[in-house]
Amino acid sequence: MARHIYVHNPFCARKCPYCDFYSVTDISCTEAFYKAAVKEVQLLASVIDETTGTNPLTDIDNRDTVYFGGGTPSVPDSRFITDLLKAIKEAFNIASDAEITIEVNPSSVTSEKLTEYFQAGFNRISLGVQSLDDEVLKTLGRLHDSKGALDAIDMIREAGFTNISADLITGVPGETPEGIKRDIKAFRDHGVKHISTYSLMLEEGTAFYDSYNKTIEEYISPELEREMYHGTRAFLNESGYETYEISNSAMPGYKSIHNSSYWNSCEYFAIGAGAHGYLGDLRYGHRDDVRAYIEEMNTITSDVYKAFLEGNESITKSLYVEERLSLEDKMREVAFLRLRTTEGILLDEFKKVFGAEFEDVFAQAVKSNIEKGLLERKERTLRLTRSGLDIANIVIEDFL
Ligand code: SF4
Repeated sequence: MARHIYVHNPFCARKCPYCDFYSVTDISCTEAFYKAAVKEVQLLASVIDETTGTNPLTDIDNRDTVYFGGGTPSVPDSRFITDLLKAIKEAFNIASDAEITIEVNPSSVTSEKLTEYFQAGFNRISLGVQSLDDEVLKTLGRLHDSKGALDAIDMIREAGFTNISADLITGVPGETPEGIKRDIKAFRDHGVKHISTYSLMLEEGTAFYDSYNKTIEEYISPELEREMYHGTRAFLNESGYETYEISNSAMPGYKSIHNSSYWNSCEYFAIGAGAHGYLGDLRYGHRDDVRAYIEEMNTITSDVYKAFLEGNESITKSLYVEERLSLEDKMREVAFLRLRTTEGILLDEFKKVFGAEFEDVFAQAVKSNIEKGLLERKERTLRLTRSGLDIANIVIEDFL
C-alpha cells in the first residue's frame, strides 16, 4: 500500500516564454505560502483514514513517493522546503524506502541547498536543463548556460545524490539531431540516470505563442521533428537509457516511481497553489492563485476540507473539483495512460481492478489497431508497436 504526494511550489526566478505551468515571480509571500502548505498537510492528514489515497496495486513497483515540483522549488530558501518535507513525513508516516524528488534549476540551486535537501531526505533530483546548446537556451529564455547546467549536475552528485534526472526539450528552432545526441552523451558522462524529453509546444497564453503567433510546424518541419524524435530515442537506447514511457527513459533501476504512479492511475494527494490531485472518483485542483491559497489555508476548518474531499465543491475558494470519474472514465484513463508506456496494458491488473477484460471493453479499438499493426499483444499485455508509438495520440483517440 503506497501513497503518492505532489507538492506544487509556485515560485520562479523568471517566467520562461514557452511555459504554461502555474508560477509567479513575486516571491514576497514565500514564507506565508510554505506556512499555509504545512497547514494543508496537517489538515489533510487529520481528515483522512489509513487507507485514503493508498494504492493496493501489486504488479508494479509502487513505493511511497513525494514529489516537489513547480515552478522552481530551488528558488525559495531551502529551510521552507525541508520544513515542509519534515511535516509531510511526520503527517503521513512516509516509508523509509520512499522515492522523494525535488525539481531544481541550474540557475538557482547551490551546493548548500543540495546538501540540505539530501540531509532532509530527498533522494532524487530532477534538473531542468532543457538543452546544453547555449543558443537554444537563449531561445528558450533560460537563465543558465550549458556550463552552468553541467556544473549543477556535478554539484548534485557531490551532495550525495545518485538518482538524477534531466529534462531535454526537442524541436526548438536552431536545435539539431546531432546537438541532442551531444547533450545525451554529456548527461550520461556526468552521471544522469534518467532523461525526460519533451517536444516544444506553443501553448496559448505563453509569450512564445504570442510572439510567434503560428503553429510549431511553421518553424520546424514535421520531418525534422520526427527525425529528432527517432534519433533521440535510438540514441537514448544506445546510450543505456531504456525508454519506458513516450517521454521518459532511464538506466536500469532508475524509472521514476512517482511519474509511474500517474500512468498506473494511482491516487495521489495535492498540496499547494496550482497542484492537482486524484482521490477515489475525484480529480481536484488548487486554483492558480497563491494569495487565495494562503488565505484559504489560514481560515479553512477540517470539516470544510473533509467535505471538499468528499465531493462538496462549492464551499471553498481555492480548491475545486475538476472532474468526477465514472467507472467507464477510469477504464478509458487506463487505456490513455498505460498505452503511453512501453510496458502497455497489463491485462491481469486491469481485470483485477475492474472485473472485466480490457479486450472486451475496448474490443473494436483493440481489433482495428492490431490489424493496422499499431498495437500488439504479448501474453497478458497489450502495447503499441513502434509505428503505434509514432502516432500514439491518434491510436489512443480510438480508446476515448
Ligand atoms: S523555470 Fe520551469 S516552471 Fe518556471 S517558468 Fe521556466 S519552465 Fe516554467
